[in-house]
Amino acid sequence: METPQPASLDFTAIDFETANASRASACAVGLAKVRGGEVVDTASWLIKPPPGLDDFAPRNVAVHGITAEMVTDVPTWDRVFPDVMSFLDGDDLLAHNAPFDRSVLRQACSVFDLEEPEAGWYDTLPVARRMLTLGSYSLPFVAQALELEDLTHHEALADAVQAARIAIALSRRAEADSLSALTFPVGGARGSRSLAGGDGTRAEGDFSALTATEVLAGQSVVFTGKLTLHTRDEAHSLVEHFGGACQTSVTKKTTILVSGDLDPRTFRPGMELSRKLQKAMDFAEAGQQIEIWTEGELHERLAVGREALESATRAQRAATRSEWLPGYVVDQARALTDDELAYTSWLRAALRHPDGRPSPDALCLRCGGEFEASAYWMFLERWVCSAECNEALKRAAKRAWSSAGIARPAAPSYAETYGRR
Ligand SMILES: [Zn+2]
Repeated sequence: METPQPASLDFTAIDFETANASRASACAVGLAKVRGGEVVDTASWLIKPPPGLDDFAPRNVAVHGITAEMVTDVPTWDRVFPDVMSFLDGDDLLAHNAPFDRSVLRQACSVFDLEEPEAGWYDTLPVARRMLTLGSYSLPFVAQALELEDLTHHEALADAVQAARIAIALSRRAEADSLSALTFPVGGARGSRSLAGGDGTRAEGDFSALTATEVLAGQSVVFTGKLTLHTRDEAHSLVEHFGGACQTSVTKKTTILVSGDLDPRTFRPGMELSRKLQKAMDFAEAGQQIEIWTEGELHERLAVGREALESATRAQRAATRSEWLPGYVVDQARALTDDELAYTSWLRAALRHPDGRPSPDALCLRCGGEFEASAYWMFLERWVCSAECNEALKRAAKRAWSSAGIARPAAPSYAETYGRR
């Protein structure tokens, strides 16, 4: 018997694709708005990545099929953002593997000095892991388990719609009438549906409190097929660096099987699998806590873990540098008399380091860390090492400008400026 639509289930599902390993290189975004447990509106954009972050890496193109030629005539994120904001209209956000999409949104906003929308974030991946027993928790497999229509995978709009439908179906199955009730199910029969044979340690999709050595803690990992980015030895040391253990063949103890041969676009239910992969699928169906990952899924997971680690390291270093905001930030702002300047131009003029780009021995203003060769040009202009230190610089500067009584142009209010679509 079908339970009714969760009447108060309101949110927007979001999915990003990126041009390369940088989270600021968003090249497509898809949105699906849900009201009362139904998808009622969708929108999607191709995005031109910012100059300097606009390489299309073969690995990314293989996943989403978007190339540099396809984005030559489309807007950059700062032009797309107002429309995205008015579509969101204050909704909570949901994604499948949300730490990835959240990180893309934050970093894409930071390189344009846009205010990241204040939204609650929800993730269907850990919920699917908790409620279903599958050999893969990528969208096509979760969709099939929930008897949803198959959609193109790794196309931003289709993935956003599918994440929305998955959240709706999981909510219905869990008899949850809100995302928070779904994310933190309490008691009831669902307990018996939790990870078969597992202790629930895989249920968390939130990497915010992890260190590098914990990202794969407790996982037994087997590699199969030809890896594109690493030799087998490098892959093994990577797994061990992130706290996992490597095995040479699939056993009852294996929890993750990473396949270098799977095409992320065609890996879906019903495809023919190699013997090793089929064995893992059989184990999963028999209730073993084992998942098949494409190489891309492994990198995505490790990148989010690495980001959490770097952020913790920066925060720790920054804590010992309480007097780091340089005086020129206030002096330059005071000297800006042209009140015709738009918000972002004003910020650039006020925050730019008077000595130009950092010398080779210069360190990040906020955390004292070194600059990477690939650091974004605007961050180098300000002598900050990362999106995180850039946001910290702006917060500290705004406090200093306010206490010095310096007026500055107001940040645009997107929902008001652009209205509802
Ligand atoms: Zn820094």
